[in-house]
Amino acid sequence: MKTVLFNLNDIELEKFVTDMGLPRFRAKQIREWLNRGAPDFNVMKNLPEDLRNKLNSCAETLPLKIVKKLKSADNQTTKFLLELNDGEQIECVLMRTTYGNSVCVSSQAGCAMGCKFCASTLLGLKRNLTVNEMFAQILTAQWELRADKIKDIHPNGDPNNGDVSHIVVMGTGEPLQNTENVIGFLERANKELNISWRRITVSTCGIVPGINELNKWGRPINLAISLHAPTDELRSQIMPINNKYKLNEVLDAAFAFSDTHNRQLMIEYILLGKKDESGSVVLYNANEDYANKLTKLLQGHNVMVNLIPWNTVDERDFASISGNAVHRFQDILIKNGIHTRIRRERGADIGSACGQLRLKNAGGKK
Ligand code: SAH
Repeated sequence: MKTVLFNLNDIELEKFVTDMGLPRFRAKQIREWLNRGAPDFNVMKNLPEDLRNKLNSCAETLPLKIVKKLKSADNQTTKFLLELNDGEQIECVLMRTTYGNSVCVSSQAGCAMGCKFCASTLLGLKRNLTVNEMFAQILTAQWELRADKIKDIHPNGDPNNGDVSHIVVMGTGEPLQNTENVIGFLERANKELNISWRRITVSTCGIVPGINELNKWGRPINLAISLHAPTDELRSQIMPINNKYKLNEVLDAAFAFSDTHNRQLMIEYILLGKKDESGSVVLYNANEDYANKLTKLLQGHNVMVNLIPWNTVDERDFASISGNAVHRFQDILIKNGIHTRIRRERGADIGSACGQLRLKNAGGKK
């Protein structure tokens, strides 16, 4: 197996270099490239060619490599399918927005949560990702941004020198099943890449001890709760985790977090339909009654409800609802005084919904 140089500390990297019979300063040169997210050794133009070839044959730069890279038609969203050293695959999405460049990071290979509308969990959980594997997702996106010369293609200027400015831990996996590594990763992103806590969001399906742990950690990040239903009865039908942690417990822990850190709590709510026998779509969690019940849960708290149009997953038994139905649901919340917005669909043309690309690529491996 090839040595992954990104996983070595400075002393180990120096030993690796001197064991190859090279002078020490090569370690420093290589480290600079690794910190920039170099995908291979060929790009390290300040190393002699024969050394680059030698390194290519015995080492890797990052603990992951790009298997597929898809760009949306408008160039603003890039989705990466990445392969880890043990062959597991994960996804990572780079979104160029008017407020900065945001990366959606995966925290696990696969997912154990079993949510009924999601593609990520269809093949089960493989394993937790390491701090380095999460950090390398950001570096990969950053390398892409720099290579793209974002200034040339970003219509609204370049708020952060074309580097990654926002992190959302909303990719494949449940971050609060891997809390220690997620915290380690975010500490490092804050320290080494200067990404401020307020530009970091962690999304969870509602693991209460994990939310409490984030609270204790004490960093003023944004917390997002994937709620998706306003009653325990309905939520338990689509999110098995609700059998363990009930709605009220989840929301109490989440409100406590947002109160402590004086942050607005984000509530994610996918608007789901189902097909009846005649094939027409009926509302599942998106009727007026549910909008009013959702209001009751949230009223009086500092929240923003993100309404998410469902991205179709062929293997799943739901249907997306009409734009009109989405707006009707939103209007009720707004009338009730709840801050609400509809999440813009990004990269729908490249299968950007959780886990779709990985699932398709797994093909026969299922
Ligand atoms: N496990 C975490 C983070 C990953 S999921 C969590 O549950 O929050 C990120 C968000 O995408 C969640 O709100 C999830 O419910 C939502 N999601 C999953 N599948 C989706 C789909 N097909 N269409 C739209 N949103 C989806």
